[in-house]
Amino acid sequence: TVRLRYAPSPTGHLHIGGARTALFNYLYAKKHGGTYILRIEDTDQNRNKENAEVGFMNGFEWLGLLWDEGPRVGGEYGPYSCMERLDIYREYTDKLLAEGKAYPCYCSEEELEAEREELSAKGELPRYLGKCRHLTTEQKAAHEAAGHKFTIRFRVPDDHVLKFHDMIRGEIEFESNGIGDFVIVKSDGIPTYNFAVTIDDALMKISHVVRGEEHLSNTPRQLLIYEAFGWTLPEFAHLPLILNETGKKLSKRDESIVQFIEQYEEMGYLPEAINNFLALLGWSPGGEQEMFTMDELIEQFSFERVQKSGATFDSGKLAWMNGQYIKSADLDRIVDLAIPFLQKAGFLADDFDRAWVTQLVALFKDGLTSVSEMAEHAALFFETEVAYDEEAKAVLSEESVPTVLAAFRDKAQNVETFNAESIQAALKEVQKETGFKGKQLFMPVRVAATGHVHGRDLNMTLALLGREKVVNRLTQLVQ
Ligand code: GLU
Repeated sequence: TVRLRYAPSPTGHLHIGGARTALFNYLYAKKHGGTYILRIEDTDQNRNKENAEVGFMNGFEWLGLLWDEGPRVGGEYGPYSCMERLDIYREYTDKLLAEGKAYPCYCSEEELEAEREELSAKGELPRYLGKCRHLTTEQKAAHEAAGHKFTIRFRVPDDHVLKFHDMIRGEIEFESNGIGDFVIVKSDGIPTYNFAVTIDDALMKISHVVRGEEHLSNTPRQLLIYEAFGWTLPEFAHLPLILNETGKKLSKRDESIVQFIEQYEEMGYLPEAINNFLALLGWSPGGEQEMFTMDELIEQFSFERVQKSGATFDSGKLAWMNGQYIKSADLDRIVDLAIPFLQKAGFLADDFDRAWVTQLVALFKDGLTSVSEMAEHAALFFETEVAYDEEAKAVLSEESVPTVLAAFRDKAQNVETFNAESIQAALKEVQKETGFKGKQLFMPVRVAATGHVHGRDLNMTLALLGREKVVNRLTQLVQ
């Protein structure tokens, strides 16, 4: 059976890279009728942030990447966070110790540091040279008696070739020489990532381990652990790095790119746009299609079509894609999303008129790249003083303007209901009366009412402004 997992460490916010890893795991599991598991890898006590896992889970729920097993939902292979599995790791540590496949190491941090420096100075890979590898029972007892702290190290066999199959990269081989006996349990009794992840993957019957390329160098250590317990290997896939637009590996501090899922949610991005975009970050089904529903992604996804080379994060493309999804989304949904932005900008009273907001959103919906932009678009409906830009001023200086504006103001004051239809009719009448038409007619009215030469449908814009504002703004310009 197909069982995949995403195993975030709760050390921060849900990052786009983590969300992509989760998505690829999810897509593959769903495609093969398998199980998608969420597991919290909280072995790094120093880096854990309180409640970070809650943020991760909320992020995944928002994206719709719901897990079949894991925290909140449970499952028969739980518990699903490392710190709740310490007893399990202890059992497997004892087994390795009893078989001589692991041993306690009493070396101090200073000794280890000195060893690393010595090796680097000689141009060799820093690794543990095995000082505690062959301690006698007496030596161990002496360390214990002296109260020395110890870690548990895995005894790495010499001259061993470690092979595995990567669904993206093919057959991969590592030499065991050079790895050095690595720590599997820290001096506080908590296992290291490599140890915990292997035990968890094996006991949870994970069939495919899919994670970022930065973990490729961890895999040989994990292979040794699989071997030591006689467990069969899962399939592996190491996903390509994410690059920024200058082709450099994306760092979390890179401010050229918005990197956390929460931030996209706050900007009014739609989760389906994020999923669609992340799916194409290193994968492509071939062909021209760029917009995919989740069902299409599930159907078409495969690791054979994931690239080995880094995948460039193109923010412009994400914004474009989000715009496409906003355009095709239900108006009511976008209204719901827009309201908080309009409220934050101070544009909506407590008893605001939803019908008015709906019309406002409808006017701009097709041109948005994020819903937050609604606040900027809405500003012109609320400013008390219209700010005329240079182009606008040029329009207003034309000779025909006072005639057109005065005539339109007159109609605007007198139509029975001030709405898009009556405004259109009024403009027609102004055309008849004054002889001005087309741009000479519409431009002065648009500019006088909004301060800009560009904008959305004029009749609707004026209608949403309302009679009072339109008449006032025209009165500013003509007696
Ligand atoms: N906790 C690791 C991470 O956040 C998981 C790596 C793995 O999937 O094995 O990247």
